[in-house]
Amino acid sequence: MQFGTKAIHAGVHPDPTTGAIMTPIYQTSTYVQESPGKHKGYEYARTQNPTRDALQANLAALENGQHGLCFASGLAATDAILKLCKPGDEIIASSDLYGGTYRIMVRVFEPLGLTFKFVSLDDPANLDAALTERTRMVWIETPTNPLLRLVDINAIAQRTRRGDDQEKNIRLVVDNTFASPYLQNPLDLGADVVVHSVTKYIGGHSDTVMGAIITNDDDTAAQLRFIQNACGAVPGPQDCFLALRGIKTLHVRMQRHCENAQRVAEYLDQHPRVGKVYYPGLPSHPGHELAARQMRGFGGMLSFELTGDSYPEAIKVMESIRLFSLGESLGGVESLCTHPASMTHASIPKEERLKNGLKDTLIRLSVGIEDADDLIADLEQALAA
Ligand SMILES: *Cc1c(COP(=O)(O)O)cnc(C)c1O
Repeated sequence: MQFGTKAIHAGVHPDPTTGAIMTPIYQTSTYVQESPGKHKGYEYARTQNPTRDALQANLAALENGQHGLCFASGLAATDAILKLCKPGDEIIASSDLYGGTYRIMVRVFEPLGLTFKFVSLDDPANLDAALTERTRMVWIETPTNPLLRLVDINAIAQRTRRGDDQEKNIRLVVDNTFASPYLQNPLDLGADVVVHSVTKYIGGHSDTVMGAIITNDDDTAAQLRFIQNACGAVPGPQDCFLALRGIKTLHVRMQRHCENAQRVAEYLDQHPRVGKVYYPGLPSHPGHELAARQMRGFGGMLSFELTGDSYPEAIKVMESIRLFSLGESLGGVESLCTHPASMTHASIPKEERLKNGLKDTLIRLSVGIEDADDLIADLEQALAA
């Protein structure tokens, strides 16, 4: 089955009692048993819920995985994956990470005894020097946030795979939020675990906070299912319904996000007030070829800097922009404009940000699915301000 068909049909079945075509919102905390221990597979709603089951099966299908698990947020999913590690384990993460991922690693899990090394993995060979006997996990994002750098998933996977011995294997985790399953399937490229902030493209309508994990490894899935139930960061059934509803148009939305972002990137690229444009769909982007190979489109996210790099001028542009709403988050149908240094990446120390090339003048756009002409007209007036 192709992607659009799976998005609409995978994991969902007409409701057995009424035939309702939409999976009902099973808003219940418990399930009645016929006699002690005799039930229909559902005991308590932290452990299982039919609305969540449908969503989990659907997401697994979209990422070509066997197992899907949903969590209360993207960071709750990240939390569950990091709990697969033990004190003393070392995790190597790419240096250009979502701010909240960096924060949970350094401020929550480092004090509990895990060690983190942040390494630029644009060149996969950098991983060789960083790997040690204690490395148990490698964590990457691609394209990265907010600089849209590309990491070669398959080249990293070749360095983390050490045969069939689970004890020796290093788990490769890919945060696939920026690409969405429509544009990139990391499991097919050798990753062990995919994590998503469903809040973004998958939900797609800026109305739900949720996370998901997909894997093909039975043992990893069993451990994660244990953590999901034992720690309890599960999403409610109403949110699962909204995510399922959003997914039905994921492929159509992503096509439009890609088309619009390409047009906006090309517009900005030729504008005299704009310096650097970071978008993998531009042939000048250093990751362009890899993106063309690894992804099925270049996505809806881009960042740019003004010529001269003036902080007050960048602020002025962000204050003048209208159709792009100024706010955090991304991946919704409406266009958003973000100032990473003060919003999404404020939890990363300034020296650390600058070391990674994230300037205080960088502007990030999540290009929505409005009409591209209107988006470009809005940028035109904001850049003229
Ligand atoms: C938003 C985001 C997260 C965190 O997800 P939440 O749903 O906000 O908890 C993780 N990774 C990336 C790349 C994100 O954009």
